[in-house]
Amino acid sequence: MKKILITGALGQIGSELTRALRAKYGVENVIATNDVASDRSAIVREGPFEVLDVLDYQRFLAIAEDYQVDTLIHLAALLSAVAETKPQLAWKVNMEGTMNALEVARERDLLFFTPSSIGAFGPSTPKDLTPQVTIQRPTTMYGVNKVAGELLCDYYYERFGVDTRGVRFPGLISYLAPPGGGTTDYAIEICYAAMDAGTYECPLSADTRLDMMYMPDAIHAIIDLLEADGSKLVHRNAFNISSMSFTPEEIAAEIRQIYPSFEMTYKVNPMLQKIADSWPNSLDATCAKEEWGFSYHYGLRGMLEDMFAHLPERQPAKRTKMLM
Ligand code: NAD
Repeated sequence: MKKILITGALGQIGSELTRALRAKYGVENVIATNDVASDRSAIVREGPFEVLDVLDYQRFLAIAEDYQVDTLIHLAALLSAVAETKPQLAWKVNMEGTMNALEVARERDLLFFTPSSIGAFGPSTPKDLTPQVTIQRPTTMYGVNKVAGELLCDYYYERFGVDTRGVRFPGLISYLAPPGGGTTDYAIEICYAAMDAGTYECPLSADTRLDMMYMPDAIHAIIDLLEADGSKLVHRNAFNISSMSFTPEEIAAEIRQIYPSFEMTYKVNPMLQKIADSWPNSLDATCAKEEWGFSYHYGLRGMLEDMFAHLPERQPAKRTKMLM
């Protein structure tokens, strides 16, 4: 990787990934793009940035050509909860956007990365230690998009030789940028609530077990996979990766070790609960470990300690937005 183009760069993952890549490969070598932009964003101010709607193929291709990029990281998407409220738009952005990204990668012979998700699994998937290759019959629009995206990555690798790579991310927890409307957002909101109000009303039931990962581990995983020896990769769609798995009750108990007076109540959101119930409890990451050495640093306690160390730096306005 020498020159990298990122779509959806102002989102939850992109905000941190762009910073990490600019620090590693040089600011001028990481071209951030997003459909909407804010001058207040450090990503926009500090390095190359272009407004790009991934549905605009000609502009997408032109930017890749102008900057002579050799790597494309495609993050622009609608996430699970948003996709479930706007399924037609989700199909358009998630599928047409991914096709455009793959076409740009094919046309320009680019190394290509796009994330899949635990949402690519469904209620008939084995729930515990979900294998790399297993039943994928998701019941959400987001899941349908993610499975189709995985298959497209396989197809572009087999049919056109595009160097496609991907991971199935669990819920990602971070403090830098607010989450984009996923089913696992509660695990971030709960941290803000613990610090600000001391109470949190959880939209998922107490025993809803889901896989999660702290953002620094997710960023390392993307970079490690992109730098991995392609000849050793058997799987081209998306690798299961995993670092922790917990329920709302368990994270609340762990938070009480730090904030003893923290209280949690439950008001289940039926749409979110239905999505969460269709997802695995935990993924088996053996293939990722064997094929490119996936590893992680943070467990639940370490992640919470780091979150609580950094959250006070965030602006109060952003905290308020997160709690809405
Ligand atoms: P996000 O919602 O925080 O950010 C997405 C970004 O894409 C936003 O900045 C948005 O403005 C932009 N965008 C939306 N439509 C666009 C369009 N038409 N053209 C260009 N940009 C557009 O999402 P994220 O959390 O950063 O997720 C990035 C990728 O990772 C997605 O594919 C998502 O499915 C996947 N993923 C995320 C998580 C998670 O917990 N965050 C978990 C699993 C997988």
